Amino acid sequence: VTAFDTVVGQHRAVAMLTAAAADAAAVVQGGDGPAMTHAWLLVGPPGSGRSVAAAAFAQALVCADGGCGQCADCHDAAARTHPDITRVESVARFYRIDDVRQLVSQASAAPLRGRWRVIVLEDADRLASQAEDWRPAAVLLKAIEEPAPRTVWVLCAPSVQDVPQTIRSRCRTVVLTTPELADVASLLVQRDGADPALAAFAARAAQAHIGRARRLVHDEDARRRRAEVLAIPSGLIDVHACLVAADNIIESAREETAESIRDRQAEERADVRASFGMGSQGMVAQGASKAIGDLKKVQERYERRVRSDVIDLALQDLLGFYRDVLVVQWGADLALINDDLRPAIDRLATGTSPLSTVQRMEAITSARDVLVGNAAPRLVLEAMFLALRDPAEAS
Ligand SMILES: [Zn+2]
Repeated sequence: VTAFDTVVGQHRAVAMLTAAAADAAAVVQGGDGPAMTHAWLLVGPPGSGRSVAAAAFAQALVCADGGCGQCADCHDAAARTHPDITRVESVARFYRIDDVRQLVSQASAAPLRGRWRVIVLEDADRLASQAEDWRPAAVLLKAIEEPAPRTVWVLCAPSVQDVPQTIRSRCRTVVLTTPELADVASLLVQRDGADPALAAFAARAAQAHIGRARRLVHDEDARRRRAEVLAIPSGLIDVHACLVAADNIIESAREETAESIRDRQAEERADVRASFGMGSQGMVAQGASKAIGDLKKVQERYERRVRSDVIDLALQDLLGFYRDVLVVQWGADLALINDDLRPAIDRLATGTSPLSTVQRMEAITSARDVLVGNAAPRLVLEAMFLALRDPAEAS
């Protein structure tokens, strides 16, 4: 498997990055490479495979053969142990200035294995802007303006507008599109060995979000949680039901988050202990308790972020459900995202008006916006579910 084989349904982006990697190899040989540059911005909707494309590009740059998939460099890149590839994501809502400074100082070093040093910065939309704290973006900008000769920055973000203008103007942009459902389904069949019917269902239910589709294929709990979320609209008959629904979403997000980060957190704790020469018996070395305390804070921030992402996915599922209701109400010739829930969708479509469906979709969308701003999830969700309740049914 070569590096770019992992990137699904992104032919134009892959062509651009392949050409860049080829020119990057020419630069290493002392030639010039117009298709290569020091700063890249990969944009695309969530689930389109930004991180995967960034990882493939990084692999292609550190491999002598454009990401052959066979050599030691490719192997290390794929295993995420290559010393010249650094990948960072924001653990909090925004990057912290100290983390960006540390990254910039890493970026200035020459590559250990002599080709390229690649810094992949996930969530470049979390660099913030003047409205918040502009310093992380300013520090990064300086590094991108004066790059070390063999350093490449690869920034990932949902859209170009999410990245401070000063930064994006210095990057070459690669646009990823939402992959076709068929591409996602066939990836799940070929690479994950999924049953074709399950793969088709997962691709559709996840709205072509590759990571989610994969989870729906492999994880029965994920399928159960999706079903629980999508059962909510039909049960919003009174205020009590709305409050219970908000509570359920929050509880289930807490569960799912704890599950998904448990191993990672245990590993991080073990790393810190090991770095202070502590065994599992927990002898306290000097400085260790501060390091453990710092880690705990970072882990709590990360947990909050994962939890808010999980809640947002539930809201996206609900949005997809009402979108289906609207499709039925309009008699539009479009496939349903949640075809498996057709009876419930039909019931709501006949019992309510298209206008009220649009209003409900707006209530979900504005709840998502408010939650991005770090509002208290319970209050926002309660208000949202009250807005989703059908007044006619409630009277
Ligand atoms: Zn290789």
